[in-house]
Amino acid sequence: MEIRVVENLLKANEAVAAQTLERLAKHGVRAINMIGSAGSGKTALLEATLPRLRESLGVAVIEGDLQTTRDAERIDRIGVPVVQVTTGKSCHLPPQLVLRALDGLDLDAIDLLFIENVGNLICPSEIPVGEHHKVAVLSTPEGDDKVLKYPMLFHLADAVVINKIDLLPHVTCDVGRIRSDLEQVGSRAQIFEVSARTGEGLDGYIGWLLGLVG
Ligand code: MG
Ligand code: ZN
Repeated sequence: MEIRVVENLLKANEAVAAQTLERLAKHGVRAINMIGSAGSGKTALLEATLPRLRESLGVAVIEGDLQTTRDAERIDRIGVPVVQVTTGKSCHLPPQLVLRALDGLDLDAIDLLFIENVGNLICPSEIPVGEHHKVAVLSTPEGDDKVLKYPMLFHLADAVVINKIDLLPHVTCDVGRIRSDLEQVGSRAQIFEVSARTGEGLDGYIGWLLGLVG
C-alpha cells in the first residue's frame, strides 16, 4: 500500500507543478530549478550572473531554504526581486510553496525565474516545482564522484555548472572524470566550468541562459 501512497504524492506534485507552468506560460516566464549540495555555490552563482542578465532580461529568484533568509537577503542586496520560501524540515522545495510564491512576484516583468532549491541532490531531482530547465551545480571541493552517486539529477539536468574551478590546484577533483561520468549516465547537459568568485567561465553559462529566452 505504501507504494500507492508514494505514487499518489508524486502525481499530486506533478499536478501542482503543471499549474505553475501554466501560470508562467501566461506571462512568458521561463523557470530554472537550481539543484546542488549545500555550499556548492548556487547563491554565489546567482549573485555573479544576475547583474549581467538583468541588462537584457527581467530576472527574479525564489529562494528555498530550510530555516534562514540569508540567501534571499543576498539576492535582495543586489536589487533583484526575490521571494523566500522557508521549508522547515522539508529537504526540498514542495511545488505547492513555489506556486504560492508566484503571488509575490510581478510575473509580467520577468523573463527568467531562478528557483534555488534546498541544498540536496536527491529529492529536488525527483520533485518538479514547475521548471522548464534543471541546472545542476557542483563544486570542485566536493570531489569528482557526485555524478555516479546521484545519476538521476545528472541524467535530467539541462546544464551542469562545475563551480569553484579557481580551487582546482588545492582540491582533489578530476574534471575530466566528471565529464566522462556525465557521458556514462546519458547526460545531455551543457557543461560549464566556472568560478562564481573570480568570474572565470561565466560568459558561456550566461550565454546559455540568455539563449533560453526566445
Ligand atoms: Mg544558497
Ligand atoms: Zn526532500
